Amino acid sequence: MRKLQTRPLDDGCRSVALVLLGFLVICCCAPALPAQEDLDRRIGKELDSLVATYKRLHQNPELSTEEKETSAAVAQELRRLGLEVTERVGRYESPGAVSYGVVGVLRNGAGPTVLVRTDMDALPVEEKTGLPYASRVRAKTAEGEVGVMHACGHDLHMTVLLGTARMLAQLKQQWHGTLVMIGQPAEERVGGARAMLGDGLYTRFPRPDYVLALHDAPLIPAGKVAWHEGPTLASSDAVDITVRGVGGHGAAPHMTKDPIVIASEMVLALQTIVSREIDPLDSAVVTVGVFHAGTKRNIIPDDATLQLTVRAFKPETREKVLASIKRIVQGIAAAAGVPPERAPLVRVNERESVPATVNDPQLTRRVAVAMERALGKDNVLAGDPIMGSEDFSLYAFEDPQPPICMFWLGATDPARLREARETGARVPGLHSSEFAPLPEPAIRTGVKAMTAAVLDLLR
Ligand SMILES: [Zn+2]
Ligand SMILES: [Zn+2]
Repeated sequence: MRKLQTRPLDDGCRSVALVLLGFLVICCCAPALPAQEDLDRRIGKELDSLVATYKRLHQNPELSTEEKETSAAVAQELRRLGLEVTERVGRYESPGAVSYGVVGVLRNGAGPTVLVRTDMDALPVEEKTGLPYASRVRAKTAEGEVGVMHACGHDLHMTVLLGTARMLAQLKQQWHGTLVMIGQPAEERVGGARAMLGDGLYTRFPRPDYVLALHDAPLIPAGKVAWHEGPTLASSDAVDITVRGVGGHGAAPHMTKDPIVIASEMVLALQTIVSREIDPLDSAVVTVGVFHAGTKRNIIPDDATLQLTVRAFKPETREKVLASIKRIVQGIAAAAGVPPERAPLVRVNERESVPATVNDPQLTRRVAVAMERALGKDNVLAGDPIMGSEDFSLYAFEDPQPPICMFWLGATDPARLREARETGARVPGLHSSEFAPLPEPAIRTGVKAMTAAVLDLLR
């Protein structure tokens, strides 16, 4: 066997070696290609086109379950970026109803699967922002003709998702695994997530190891994001109460059991559940949003109907509030002398109810660190939970029960928020006809935050 000869370097070799060594030192010590700057530059290049997409979506809102054109636009853009796209994913219970759910899949080698969700539906609100790109869309509903507006900012969510898809399609050398991007219909009616999960979102498509989403937040300045771990959005239950009395002549109340008086007592008594029965350090809401009764001033009607929304963070609190509602309503009717066969009917509408959104602590902290790296610590805030609710919660309940995280995206012009703090001026919130996110820097920030989060999970 020939012994490997070593010999000292001659001068020529030495100078070549020194040059090579110098080159290596320069390469290794030069700030590693500034990934954040690169991301900034890439987003900057796409920004005009993303803002145009946002304005187009904003001007063409569609109500829950009617997201036909919106979902087609989302599908088309994901397809253009190279994702395998499936449309009309989802199954509603009502026969013949079409779900406009979109699923896009981008496979990029072995690794975990991250699912990013946007919602797509708008609200029956007539826009009063006065913006040049304000919606003028009107739609016919069972309740008559209504204005339609992206008053919850789902147009912003879609734009951020499409921007993130552009970034991740361009940066495929920086990640490994599978990206699933979904456009979910009917969030405002909490039907879309259930419809998509029930149609095999986790079985027909890659099973997610992590599920991410964001929601815009009017009280956080555009340019910043915020996060909260654990319960972040409340559970929501839709409760319908039919108060059954005994009708009759308005001039002969003694011959009746007046359901309007009985239901009025119920409205007030229901307010004692949160104030007297729930631990003051826990949180719950009971709101009576609908009270319908009567047809004519001198007729005592047979029935009155109440529609409630109930919010809580803990499942046990939720159960306790629902049980208290039943007990109070039954008790008041009995005290008024309503015969047992006319006792009130209390129904929890399961299809309109959702559990609390619980951000997985480990995933949420990891996302927060990634966002801090991308946006700077000053732009990533400790957020607060809210009593609003989301069917995003349901993505954590379907097998394999992946960890989920929804973070807040600042939406309002920082100058407007400053002014509001100083003068007490009102800041239009979600579902307001005057809700007007500041597209730039909200879109830039959202794309950067979501891209950084996905890159970290798929590194
Ligand atoms: Zn909403
Ligand atoms: Zn929303």
